[in-house]
Amino acid sequence: MPQSQSTTSISMARARPLPGVRALPPPAGWAADRHDGNRHGGGRRRLPADAEHQDARGEWLRFAPVQPLFRARAAQRLAVLAYHGVTDHRSFGAQLDRLQRLATPVSLTAVLQAVTERRPLPPRSVLVTFDDADRSVLTHALPALDARGIPATAFVISELIGTERPFWWHEADFLARHGGRARSLDCGHPSQLLRRLKAMPDPDRRRSLHELRVSADRRPPSQEQLTPADLLALRDGGVAIGNHTQGHPCLGRCDDDTVRTEITGAHEALTRWLGEPPTAFAYPDGGHDPRAETVLQELGYRLGFLSDHRLGPRLPSHPLQISRLQVDSTTSTRRFDTILSGLEPAYRRWRRQAVA
Ligand SMILES: [Zn+2]
Repeated sequence: MPQSQSTTSISMARARPLPGVRALPPPAGWAADRHDGNRHGGGRRRLPADAEHQDARGEWLRFAPVQPLFRARAAQRLAVLAYHGVTDHRSFGAQLDRLQRLATPVSLTAVLQAVTERRPLPPRSVLVTFDDADRSVLTHALPALDARGIPATAFVISELIGTERPFWWHEADFLARHGGRARSLDCGHPSQLLRRLKAMPDPDRRRSLHELRVSADRRPPSQEQLTPADLLALRDGGVAIGNHTQGHPCLGRCDDDTVRTEITGAHEALTRWLGEPPTAFAYPDGGHDPRAETVLQELGYRLGFLSDHRLGPRLPSHPLQISRLQVDSTTSTRRFDTILSGLEPAYRRWRRQAVA
C-alpha cells in the first residue's frame, strides 16, 4: 500500500531508535503491520477485549521519558486526526474534552487560509476529520462536536450518498463469510481477503466483488448512508464536506481514466449537493497518488489528506499531501495523548523497522 512521501515527519521516525523507549520492554504482540494506513475491516469490527489490549499497548508509552519532549515538539506541529466514524460516543467525548484542554481545534477553512496566506497555524492546532462518513458522523460526532464548538471535516464516498449500500470492504467480508467465492481469491481469513482485494488491479477487484455477490448464500445487510440533506446539515453544523472519490477504490490500482473519473464524478456530485465545489480531498486508503494530485489541481482543490500516521508542519509545505494521525473513537484518552504527541506513531515506525 502506498505510503506518504511527506518529508515533514518527526525526524526521529527514521531508522534511529527512540531514546528512553528502547529501554522499555516492547509490549507483547505489537504487530509490525498494525498500521496499514487505514482501518477498513479492522477497527470497526474489533472485539472489545482486543480494543482493550490495543489500548494497553499504547498506554505504557505515556510513561516514556521522551513523552514530554514529544509533547513539546508536537505543540509546534499540525495534528490532523483521521477517524472512521464514532462507535463509542463517551470515549469520543472524552477525546474532544482533551482536545479542548490541550489543543487548538481549527477548521478546514483555517487550514486553507494558512496555506493561502502562507501563515502558520497557531501552536497545538488540531483538525478533526472523518473518512468514509458513515451515519455516525451525523448521529454521534456532530452533537459532540457542536456541544464543544469544535469544527471538523468529513470525506464522503459520493456514490453511496442517499443509498443503503454497505461499504465495499464490509460487503466483501460478509459475502466471503457466507459462501461467496471468486476466481482470483482464496477466501481464507477475512483480513487476508481484504488485503488481496486491495492489492489487485482495480478491474480485478470489481470483478471479484461481482463474483462474490453472485455466489454468496446471502445478501449483505443494508447500511443506511448519509443523504444529500444530511451533508448540508453537517456543513451547517460546522463539519465541512470533502471528496473521498466516487466508489473508494485504491487509486494506485486504477488506470489513469478511472483515477480521473473517480475524482471528477465525486466532485460534480458534491458540487451539485452543496451548491459549491469542495476544496479538500482525502486519498482512499490514505495513499498519495501523483495522477490524483494532478486532477485535484485541475479541479481547484487546495488541500489533500493522507493517512500516514504522522504530524505535519503548521504551515503545510505540500498542501495536497497533508499528514494525518490515525485515531479511533474507542481509543483511551491516555493512548490518545501519546498519539497526539507523535510518540506512539514514532514508536510504531521504530518497531516496524526494528523487526524488518
Ligand atoms: Zn476511506
